[in-house]
Amino acid sequence: MNSSPNTDCPLCQQDGGTVLWRNDKLRIVLAAEPGYPGFCRVIWQAHRAEMTDLPTEDRQYLMEVVFAVEQSLREIAQPNKINLASLGNVVAHLHWHVIPRYRDDRHFPNAIWGQSVRDNAGDHPVDIRQLADALSRHLSSR
Ligand SMILES: [Zn+2]
Repeated sequence: MNSSPNTDCPLCQQDGGTVLWRNDKLRIVLAAEPGYPGFCRVIWQAHRAEMTDLPTEDRQYLMEVVFAVEQSLREIAQPNKINLASLGNVVAHLHWHVIPRYRDDRHFPNAIWGQSVRDNAGDHPVDIRQLADALSRHLSSR
């Protein structure tokens, strides 16, 4: 398996957002997605396409971190729902979307990539410093 960075892959070449936390295996970034201020992505550092490209231990670790992001967002952003998604159809470099959702956001109850259903979405700002602190707290034991 080729583990070297892929020169054509945006997630090998760039962080893909504001880095909130990182270690040698993965990084957590805040996505710059208008209307979705707490939208995080957990991105595997090495270029891999699928969860089953990872050894079992790494799969479990990645999901633990995804759940730590979910927990942190629930505490800080208090959304009505969390959406977890791993698609990779556009960028086939393993990453999970962790998206706080609100009943009055632009797409709810659709996926954020689906049809928008309202123009005047609610405003749900997220304190990034508090979010980063919560992440550190939840990840310190991992
Ligand atoms: Zn890549």
